[in-house]
Amino acid sequence: MQMQAATRPNALTVDVEDYFQVSALAPCIPRDSWDARECRIERNLDRILELFEQNAAHATFFTLGWIAERYPRAIRRIVDAGHELASHGYGHERVTDLTPAAFRADIERAQGILEDLSGTPVRGYRAPSFSIGEGNLWALEVLREVGLEYSSSIYPVHHDHYGMPQAPRHPHRPVSAGVLELPPATLRMAGRNLPAAGGGYFRLLPYALSRRALNRIRAVDAMPAVFYFHPWEIDPEQPRVPGLAARSRFRHYVNLHRMEARLERLLQDFRWDRMDRVFAADLAANTEHAQVTGDGDVRTA
Ligand SMILES: [Zn+2]
Repeated sequence: MQMQAATRPNALTVDVEDYFQVSALAPCIPRDSWDARECRIERNLDRILELFEQNAAHATFFTLGWIAERYPRAIRRIVDAGHELASHGYGHERVTDLTPAAFRADIERAQGILEDLSGTPVRGYRAPSFSIGEGNLWALEVLREVGLEYSSSIYPVHHDHYGMPQAPRHPHRPVSAGVLELPPATLRMAGRNLPAAGGGYFRLLPYALSRRALNRIRAVDAMPAVFYFHPWEIDPEQPRVPGLAARSRFRHYVNLHRMEARLERLLQDFRWDRMDRVFAADLAANTEHAQVTGDGDVRTA
């Protein structure tokens, strides 16, 4: 039943949203201005699909309903190239800002759009800005109620905007009536979890550190790593947003011009596949387990 962790590829994920939808930039970009902004998602997705094809990599694309609705052909290309289409919700609202009813409406809206486009059920979800944690684990139950099977939304680290540092670092089911959680990669060092899944850290720190972290997760923890990035991260020419706080500006723009080359090295140095395939055994065990015992914590990796 269990595939050997050493032979499993890592899981590659892309959060499909444009630069003007990023939570850290939200204070300077009113939501009702989104439609008037220059959208760069199509060209960036094309480049990503090309990179993946050149390196025989497959990935899971956690896609906003808002984007899928406006750029259906770009989303079809993702599906046609053999990648997994999954949900990033509709309007990129942090789950921490939503009531259970509003959250449910947001994910159902996205799911309808994505399933119409792909012709297959959506199985996975990632919360905008990893906004599921200790205070809103009910969201995992809502995900299951609408037919989803897994989430990759709880980042077990300390961060000023998100994170649940005490959460498990491996596949687990935080609430018995909820979906399976497949957390973004972290490195356990000196009693702390360090982020190792991508984002600003991947652009800021030397590539060799990221490679070492991913190697260590495989060697020490014997589990695949979940890595993520965004289409706007390979786009150094994106329009600059004026008025940002210094910290947000730094995090968003640091080393964008280095990202594409780094991503290529990452694709060459490791084997990558879609979430639903990398964690197929965990997903199957979760369904079985949930039916048989309703146990709270499933670990098969
Ligand atoms: Zn996002």
